[in-house]
Amino acid sequence: MNALEREIAEEIAAGGPIGLDRFMALALSHPRYGYYMTRDPFGLAGDFITAPEVSQIFGELLGLLAGITWQMLGEPKRVALVELGPGRGTLMADALRAARALPGFIASLELHMVEMSPVLQQAQAESLKGSGMRAQWHASIESLPEDCPLIVLANEFFDAIPVRQFQRRDGEWRERLVGIAPDGKLGLGLGAPVPGLKLEAPDEAVFETSPISLEIMKHLAKRIVAQGGMALAIDYGHARFGFGETLQAVRQHAFSPVLADAGEADITAHVDFSALSIAARRSGAAVHPVITQASLLERLGIRHRAEILKAKAENPEEIDLAVERLAGTGPQAMGLLFKALAITSPGLAPPPGFDAPDPRLAAQKED
Ligand code: SAH
Repeated sequence: MNALEREIAEEIAAGGPIGLDRFMALALSHPRYGYYMTRDPFGLAGDFITAPEVSQIFGELLGLLAGITWQMLGEPKRVALVELGPGRGTLMADALRAARALPGFIASLELHMVEMSPVLQQAQAESLKGSGMRAQWHASIESLPEDCPLIVLANEFFDAIPVRQFQRRDGEWRERLVGIAPDGKLGLGLGAPVPGLKLEAPDEAVFETSPISLEIMKHLAKRIVAQGGMALAIDYGHARFGFGETLQAVRQHAFSPVLADAGEADITAHVDFSALSIAARRSGAAVHPVITQASLLERLGIRHRAEILKAKAENPEEIDLAVERLAGTGPQAMGLLFKALAITSPGLAPPPGFDAPDPRLAAQKED
């Protein structure tokens, strides 16, 4: 057992088994041993690669989307451009460079980065140096400004937010809890029946939910309704609700068991975009139909931008590969697995890319 696992085992010995949400929160964000708190996990040398690290085009297109949204908001003199979980800061650096095409936007914006990890805050500050922009960092969304419209970008943020799992057994739902197995290691078991959970499902079905994600979405939606603005969330996930567990751990580009080596592997769950959409709608925001990352990037002009970059690139085929990875629809590509959700203040037209439903989603049964 590593130091974090020993701490978790002590917590369980003292207070009984803990929810997967508590385990995930400790594994990712324990101040001393949490996965994101201690390292920069991105890139080839790290554990995984995210879309902004695949190609500069990803951040550039989102920067233009943000700028056009600012125009749709009536070009407010002050606007907060917010990123949730900015990782290395690559997306924002690329977005700001592209947004220079709209000088009024750059002049009006304040930059706010929501990041819990001191190591990654540092990396983000480094990435933003070239932009000439000053940023403010926040540990959570609560301290974001309340007196101007918000334009919020969140790529692979919600998949890092803790989930709880419940399993149907003999007609009752029980929570899947982390306890100490007979061999002394951390293991999964089922807690007492949860009578309040009323969902019809076959025996052994698993219901996975991220109450914290829903709270974050509600908070964002309320702010956007009150202050004006837009939030865009892009993540690995499904557009329609389905039973099943999706929690996974990734270490050095390979899957590893979720409960093994706490704090050493990235733990994520697929994002339930239908639940996020409902949470935002209930809070009064306009919710635009979920679309695939492939459709969003195609509609924002990824091919066109790639052609421009290829014309001056030393290895144009690398750009083709990056575009295929981001917007391709094969099983190895991100285009269909990743979805995008946009919410806006009521009355605002859909942001660029969200003006039509996604035929790619209508065609798919499981998404
Ligand atoms: N958006 C980046 C990084 C994705 S990884 C990219 O696409 O490359 C998830 C990011 O969210 C990390 O920066 C992590 O530290 C941050 N994060 C996770 N949970 C968080 C929370 N509860 N509050 C603030 N930041 C969080």
